[in-house]
Amino acid sequence: MSTSAPAVAGSRQPSADVRGEAARRRTFAVISHPDAGKSTLTEALALHARVIGSAGAVHGKAGRRGTVSDWMDMERDRGISITSAALQFAYRDAVVNLLDTPGHADFSEDTYRVLTAVDAAVMLVDAAKGLETQTMKLFAVCKHRGIPIITVVNKWDRPGMDALALMDEIAERTGLTPTPLTWPVGIAGDFRGVLDRRDGSYRHFTRTAGGATIAPEEVFPADQALAREGDAWTQAVEEAELLAETGAEHDQELFLAGATTPVLFASAVSNFGVGQLLDVLVDLAPAPADRPDADGQPYPLDAPFSAFVFKVQAGMDTGHRDRLAYIRVCSGVFERGMVVTNASTGRPFATKYAQQVFGRDRETIETAWPGDVVGLVNAAALGVGDTLFVDRPVRYPPVTTFAPEHFAVARVADTSKYKQFRKGIDTLAGEGVVQVLISERRGDGSPVFAVVGPMQFEVASHRMEHEFGARISLDSLPYSLAMRTDEASVPAITASSGTEVMQRADGELLALFTTKWVMGMVREKPGVTLEPLIAAQLG
Ligand code: GDP
Repeated sequence: MSTSAPAVAGSRQPSADVRGEAARRRTFAVISHPDAGKSTLTEALALHARVIGSAGAVHGKAGRRGTVSDWMDMERDRGISITSAALQFAYRDAVVNLLDTPGHADFSEDTYRVLTAVDAAVMLVDAAKGLETQTMKLFAVCKHRGIPIITVVNKWDRPGMDALALMDEIAERTGLTPTPLTWPVGIAGDFRGVLDRRDGSYRHFTRTAGGATIAPEEVFPADQALAREGDAWTQAVEEAELLAETGAEHDQELFLAGATTPVLFASAVSNFGVGQLLDVLVDLAPAPADRPDADGQPYPLDAPFSAFVFKVQAGMDTGHRDRLAYIRVCSGVFERGMVVTNASTGRPFATKYAQQVFGRDRETIETAWPGDVVGLVNAAALGVGDTLFVDRPVRYPPVTTFAPEHFAVARVADTSKYKQFRKGIDTLAGEGVVQVLISERRGDGSPVFAVVGPMQFEVASHRMEHEFGARISLDSLPYSLAMRTDEASVPAITASSGTEVMQRADGELLALFTTKWVMGMVREKPGVTLEPLIAAQLG
């Protein structure tokens, strides 16, 4: 590792600057089911913030993913949804960081981990479909982490559900009380504008050709709205009154506490309601705050630089096979070239190559503040969850791993490639592509891949073959459930059939069970300790 880069002490920065810069940051992700319009909304946000000239410039959606290998091969051509990490743009006085959560039908752990790096989430709901499976899973992760959620009902330009029914569904299925900030004028499919519940005014949207430019918005007082929109306005007013009676009013404390969710209505493809979302993010979403360290003690924003790795991505560039580690800055100021310490290994890391990555564009980053994301190049020494710091040691809690639900023994197809096989396995484990388990009972020492979603197997196989030159075979194991256990429990657990105990790469002992029923029986045995891992579907 190069040590020629000059060390820059983060503590040199006056703390007022750090707090001020942090206060301007809004770092969030969009959680949604595939096809709800996340890419379209991202483009529309970028358009509004004038990052791009016209919508559609960020990436073309021409080649939608067919199979996993398509996806792997297409990743460089595709644009934002796979290779990007964060889109940063200025809006009003704020700096907005939009972190990308890849929207594969198979929500891998990778997606969940991005949520450890945000301060808020936008839950994007398709007006016709309501809350879909992946939305619910991602929502569960946000809830578990206490991340405040802003809900956007998208595609209001198309026929869909009744707005009040949607609010009921949100309340019932998420437990959050929806507090609409705007209310649609015109039913789904006849989107004319919104009633702004904060001042009772009518915001009328005007469509632009192909939604390629910002939709002009005109504001009218209530009496003029009635004259313009007639019954559609009357209905919106009546429904808004109903909402008021049920107490669906925004309360900043309840929102931050994860009890309520402000709701906006939008049509991302026509850019309707997108400016309002930006305003709500800036006005209501929380700025980065002192982040609790591994002991639960808040680590001050204005302490020297610290950050943690929330995502590692390899093989983005077939030419170099580089490995990027994405960090979220938690305190202090990041200055490119600074030498930081990796808290897990105690080793120094020179941040000579620091980038902002969005789509195919990579830009060198010189400075970053709390809430910002930096892509560190040549980061072979960094793994997901590692804490980096200067001057004052700190360690952030380990990044969550989720309870795996699918298990398969990995074997190298050609034994002469064993070295490549080992290297590949270590790399994939470090990146968190799969969890790697070792079973003493399996004599050949073959590692077991444990995943949350089966597509992770395909991604791992593909990369083992194409990136590491070690084709593998995967034999599924019959387990569907994993619990944390300890050494003392092992004999009693393994005495039952339909069970096995394995050790994960992080040292954790995991008891695997074929069924919930088997697990229930084993749990009843005296002296057996079983603790749940975090399930991908919480509650
Ligand atoms: P993602 O999978 O969540 O990224 O969804 P996309 O942004 O790719 O959108 C999926 C499809 O829905 C595309 O055909 C979009 O053009 C379309 N779409 C997105 N937003 C809207 C919207 O507000 N109204 C309508 N009618 N279509 C939309």
